[in-house]
Amino acid sequence: MEELNRLEKSLLQHVGKAVHDFSLIDEGDRIMVAISGGKDSYTMLHLLRVLQKRAPVKFDLIAVNLDQGHPGFPGHLLKAWLEENGYEHRLLKEDTYSIVLDKLKPGQTQCSLCSRLRRGILYTAAVDMGCTKIALGHHRDDLIHTFLLNQFFAGATATMPPKLMSNDGRNTVIRPLAYAPEKDIARFAELMEFPIIPCDLCGSQENLQRQKVKRLVDDLSKEIPMLRSSLLSAMGNLHVSHLLDQKLWSMPTETPPTVARQAAPALVQLQTENTDAA
Ligand code: SF4
Repeated sequence: MEELNRLEKSLLQHVGKAVHDFSLIDEGDRIMVAISGGKDSYTMLHLLRVLQKRAPVKFDLIAVNLDQGHPGFPGHLLKAWLEENGYEHRLLKEDTYSIVLDKLKPGQTQCSLCSRLRRGILYTAAVDMGCTKIALGHHRDDLIHTFLLNQFFAGATATMPPKLMSNDGRNTVIRPLAYAPEKDIARFAELMEFPIIPCDLCGSQENLQRQKVKRLVDDLSKEIPMLRSSLLSAMGNLHVSHLLDQKLWSMPTETPPTVARQAAPALVQLQTENTDAA
C-alpha cells in the first residue's frame, strides 16, 4: 500500500507538471480519454480522475475504447471495469483489422496503418461527442524512443509533443503522461490490478526499429543512469543557434543557454501531426 501511494503521488506530480508546463487542461474541457486496455491508458484515466477531484478547474472525462475487430478482443473486461469504477464511457467498434489485413502484404508491419485508422475514428468520434481534447497515454519513454527514432531513421529532431492540434484544426491531442517513466506506470498498473488487455491480439510484431532503439536505451541506461532524464531535458532545451535548421537560422551569437531555453516553448507550436509518425 505504501508503494502504491508513493507511486501514485510521484505519477501525479509528473502529470501535474505536464499539465502546467503545456496548459493541457482548461476550464470546461470535456476530455476524451483514449483507453486501449493497456497499462498506460488505465493509469492515465485513473490519474486524470484523481486530478479532476483536486484541480481548481472543472473538466469532464469520458473514457473511450475502440474495438478494432481483433480476434478474441476481450472488450467485456474493460466494460466491466469502467462500470464498476463509475467512469463515464463509450465503447466503439469498427473492424479496421480486416482493412489492415486486406491492404498489407503478409509480413508487413501493421501498426502504422492500424494506428492511423484508429486515430481517424477517434478524432471523428471526439467531435461527435463534443470533446474538446483527446488524451493519449504516451509516456516519457515513448517520447524518448520517438525522439531517437526520428533522429536515427528520419533525419529529424522531433517527438510526440505533449499538446498538439490536428492538421485540420478539429482536435487537440494531449499527452498527460509525457513526463511519467514507463517503469513506474508498469508497477503502478500491476499494484492496481488493472484488467490488462494484451496488445498482441492482432498478431503484429512491434516495429523492429523501435525495438532496437528501446534495447539501446535500456543498455546505455545501465552505464548512464541519468540517460532518460537527460534525453527528456534535451527535448525541452533546444539551442537553435547551435543547430543546423536553416528555417530557424540567424547568425549564431554567444547567446547564453538560459536565453535559448526561454525560446524553446515557441518551437512546440511549430510541431505538426506528422512529427510523431515515426
Ligand atoms: S500492435 Fe496491433 S493493435 Fe496495436 S497498433 Fe499494432 S497492429 Fe494495431
